[in-house]
Amino acid sequence: MYSVRMRAERDKKHISGAERIVETKGISTTVSALAERALSHEKGKPDFINISVEALKTPIKNVTSLPLILTHVENAKEGKALAKGLLLTLGLPLLCIEKAILLLEKGPADGENMRGAIIMGMQGNRLEPDKHRGIRVSRMDITKGCSIELERAIVDAGLIPYYTYISEALVLATKVSSVKGTIAELCWSDDPSYTAGYVASKKLGYVRIPHLKQKGDPRGGRVFFVDNIDLDNYIHEMENTPLLVNKFCGLREISLDKP
Ligand code: AMP
Repeated sequence: MYSVRMRAERDKKHISGAERIVETKGISTTVSALAERALSHEKGKPDFINISVEALKTPIKNVTSLPLILTHVENAKEGKALAKGLLLTLGLPLLCIEKAILLLEKGPADGENMRGAIIMGMQGNRLEPDKHRGIRVSRMDITKGCSIELERAIVDAGLIPYYTYISEALVLATKVSSVKGTIAELCWSDDPSYTAGYVASKKLGYVRIPHLKQKGDPRGGRVFFVDNIDLDNYIHEMENTPLLVNKFCGLREISLDKP
């Protein structure tokens, strides 16, 4: 199996990235699909596209996805209140949660988006070695059969325009939650038109929140809340251990009392 990864930049700024795990016969179509994707991103045309193809030398971990849980909120204020509540339920200190939200609102790389994620310890301390790059979760994908099941559930929920966002984020969040030491993840997109994000954890699943920022806001990011980790091992596993989501755990919608 091969890991095929794409990243696109303009003026040295990250525009988009995506990746797949494929068999030899899938390499060329995947490379051209990823090139197409790099060229058609809403953030504009890149001046640099890197696509790498690499044989995977370590065994692939096969896992079941986190359950996909849909919530309904009216706006970003309600969305953030919900995210805060979920993170508190998971036992995170309020200080950490507020710091994480503020960082994503202001731009965690000196006012800009990071390329990867923040790792945050229980005292609200940032552990990632490079505050601009962050850590990049990599070498992950979903099997064809599982993506068909997921697509069906997303169609039934009326969310098909967001299929790619949800599928890729669910795979990433499933990998993040599977690594020892992760308590939870908070994410919202940096695509200006996509206001949704999620709180993901082994305990509560992948909880999609449709509004975590205002439409048009170009800021976004990811925070991995961790406890008791060996930082080098943690980063190594996130970046290198290949993982395939081969079973979909199902979708459910929950309605919440307004805060
Ligand atoms: P996206 O959901 O693609 O809009 O990404 C939102 C933010 O998540 C980006 O601004 C990055 O900071 C972070 N991010 C994107 N891809 C990854 C990844 N593979 N690993 C870790 N963080 C990522």
